[in-house]
Amino acid sequence: MFKRFLKNNNVQGYRVQQLYDQYFKQVISSWDELTNWPKDLREKLKEEVPFTELVNFTEFPSSDHKTIKVLTNTKEGFPVESVLMRNKDRITVCISCMSGCPVGCKFCATGRMGLNKSLSTHEIMDQIMYFQRKLKATGEKITNIVYMGMGEPLLNLKHVSESINLLTDSNVMAMSARRITVSTSGYIPQLEEFLKKDMGVNLAISLHAPNQKLREKLMPTVAKLNPLDKLY
Ligand code: SF4
Repeated sequence: MFKRFLKNNNVQGYRVQQLYDQYFKQVISSWDELTNWPKDLREKLKEEVPFTELVNFTEFPSSDHKTIKVLTNTKEGFPVESVLMRNKDRITVCISCMSGCPVGCKFCATGRMGLNKSLSTHEIMDQIMYFQRKLKATGEKITNIVYMGMGEPLLNLKHVSESINLLTDSNVMAMSARRITVSTSGYIPQLEEFLKKDMGVNLAISLHAPNQKLREKLMPTVAKLNPLDKLY
């Protein structure tokens, strides 16, 4: 995130750390709050880098306010959905890695949409930081993150991996990898590539059927290419 700006402007390492610290750990609400940067550099950042790539955040809380669904849009106008869920001492955020999904599972409304776009690292992190800023007001933080919203994470592996690196980097968000879960419909080659990265996060494979025949009926795109016997 912010890489092009930092490179083009030859921003020094300690300034980069100040930016990450303020944005991800202190959870600032606008670039104006990045007060430990010189004014001219901060103004340039404001001009060139949007504070959030996603726009039009709209909340839909449940009646007991334990769950808040947020609908937002990419700058192209595509929908993105994320959800905050409270359960005892856990605050879990479920995020999307795509708008729509190319996998097209028969039971899934997102699948019926087809793929609008794979989200950038910034767009993935925007969903997390939206809730982190909201929770700051009550002195709380997200405790768990699940990649289980719109889209197949392993088909957007580059940006999903980059976002996990930001979440777990001790200089950025410093979350424990054990509090992060990536849910996949089971693309075997991408799964192997992901496992090679050894990121330490939890993996959930959504089979949605006890046998290959039913799985092919419900999830034809992924099931035919990635049969159950190879997945086990
Ligand atoms: S992979 Fe997930 S998001 Fe995509 S169509 Fe299937 S159930 Fe829906």
